[in-house]
Amino acid sequence: MLVLATGSTPFVPPMRGVTGDAAGFKKRLFLFRTLDDCQTIIAHAVQAREAAVIGNGLLGLEAARGLPSRSAAVHDVHLMSYLMEQQLDVAAGTMLRRTLERLGLHVHFEKQTTAVLGNGYVAGLALRDGSTLDCGLVVTAEGLAP
Ligand SMILES: Cc1cc2nc3c(=O)[nH]c(=O)nc-3n(C[C@H](O)[C@H](O)[C@H](O)COP(=O)(O)OP(=O)(O)OC[C@H]3O[C@@H](n4cnc5c(N)ncnc54)[C@H](O)[C@@H]3O)c2cc1C
Repeated sequence: MLVLATGSTPFVPPMRGVTGDAAGFKKRLFLFRTLDDCQTIIAHAVQAREAAVIGNGLLGLEAARGLPSRSAAVHDVHLMSYLMEQQLDVAAGTMLRRTLERLGLHVHFEKQTTAVLGNGYVAGLALRDGSTLDCGLVVTAEGLAP
């Protein structure tokens, strides 16, 4: 028998504007995966007036919960109609939303990010409904690819 258990890599869904001038991500767009990711996010969050987290499973919410003490405003951009829809029912997701809002998060439901705005540096997000969200730092935690 052969077991392949080689872990996973972060999945970044197709969005315009993810890459910057160099081959890598636009500056101040971060994954949330390793200790290095955490330290880099913390270092930049203190300068960001507004921050956004895309993807609100366990990791996205952990990242969002850690940001309010460091950025002036933190937005949680959620594709579905309530939080942690994979793990919770509507009632529990609503309770969680209230708790997180009391802790300073701004939660946006049924919003799909189509583009990361900004020239070289993150300046905001464009959403499928035509609206935009100003932010100077983005963490994406939208699942994994094996
Ligand atoms: C920020 C963060 C916080 C988390 N917090 C929690 C938590 O609180 N509770 C919880 O239950 N889970 C948590 N998780 C999830 C948990 O870490 C993963 O579910 C778990 O590590 C997955 O285990 P795995 O063995 O599948 O993969 P991994 O732990 O990634 O292990 C895969 C291993 O395979 C090795 N490998 C890769 N490619 C090859 C190759 N070609 N040949 C040989 N070896 C290879 C890698 O070096 C690695 O050692 C967290 C994850 C993250 C990123």
